[in-house]
Amino acid sequence: MKEGLVIVPYECRCGSSYAPTADRWRCDCGGLLDLPLGAVRWPPRTDVRSMWRYLDAGDLPWRDVTLGEGDTPLVREDRELYLKVEFASPTGSFKDRGAVVLVALARALNASRLVADSSGNAGTAVAAYAARAGVAAEIFVPAGTSEKKLQQIRGHGARVTVVEGSREDTAAAAAARVEESGAFYASHVYNPYFHEGTKTYALEIFEQLGGAVPATLVLPAGNGTLVLGAHRGFAELRAAGLIDRIPRIVAVQSELCAPLAEAWTAGRDEPEPVRPGHTLAEGIAIADPARGSRILVAVEDSHGAFVTVGEDEIAEAHAALAARGLWVEPTGSVSYAAVRRLRAEGSSLVIGGPIVAPLCGSGLKASL
Ligand SMILES: [Zn+2]
Repeated sequence: MKEGLVIVPYECRCGSSYAPTADRWRCDCGGLLDLPLGAVRWPPRTDVRSMWRYLDAGDLPWRDVTLGEGDTPLVREDRELYLKVEFASPTGSFKDRGAVVLVALARALNASRLVADSSGNAGTAVAAYAARAGVAAEIFVPAGTSEKKLQQIRGHGARVTVVEGSREDTAAAAAARVEESGAFYASHVYNPYFHEGTKTYALEIFEQLGGAVPATLVLPAGNGTLVLGAHRGFAELRAAGLIDRIPRIVAVQSELCAPLAEAWTAGRDEPEPVRPGHTLAEGIAIADPARGSRILVAVEDSHGAFVTVGEDEIAEAHAALAARGLWVEPTGSVSYAAVRRLRAEGSSLVIGGPIVAPLCGSGLKASL
């Protein structure tokens, strides 16, 4: 029996479906590709100590690519709040969960090269796993990306292409390269298999809490990979009849770049692009999130909400975490910043527990 993850067809809302191939990254209609909700095998396997213990047997050559990602600590901070130490991942961020799946998929589809674009952490993760898998990688990053992240990407042997302009310009440049070269697009935004990895964040929390469902997940939201993945994980547990409700998702954006929070407040189904300000939370400064409507639906399904945090709150949360022995990059402290503020306000969003907030990226990656 092969192990890993069963490769199932991509689906588009227009009704088209596609067996995954190395060069397929969107629908012929231009739409985004999704995957149907999968089946959860529970309890997880006990012979593996990584996120792969939650994924069903299948077609991906994950053993050739894995660095033991997942299985991150869940640290109890106080009576109700738990912090999930995602920066203890092999490349220093939660993006490893999705990146390892994409690179294993690239291998399964016999891709010899791949392209990714990122503000940093997804690029470093994809570069690391591509190196491990022997797949040539080119990573597009926006100008201004932390020098430490660029060193990390280059260190893994990937080619770095710096794009002057916005985060969206960087994605467009990567997509153009994919179109001209036929490379596999290891995109954490466009490829829905990324969420097959990030959903293990939810499954791991469920197991670490002894089968309890958290009252609230507080999650950063830029392109929404963790919101969509965590929602998917709990939705699959719900579909399997293992739980009867999913946690309320509080999605956190920077005040200086909050297209999703603005759409939520206005009651719109789709975000409108914003002009981002310069925020400490550069990792979630996404002005026009491609999966915006799906992120809004996921938060609504969870009976959650969007909140924004200001620069001072992010800086204070970063310092407060450091004072508790936790060195995260500024973006990685936005969830904690939101918990602090909501508690100070006595918000009903953080009444009851457990509350789980991730610390997404290592402070060692950022130039503070
Ligand atoms: Zn379509």
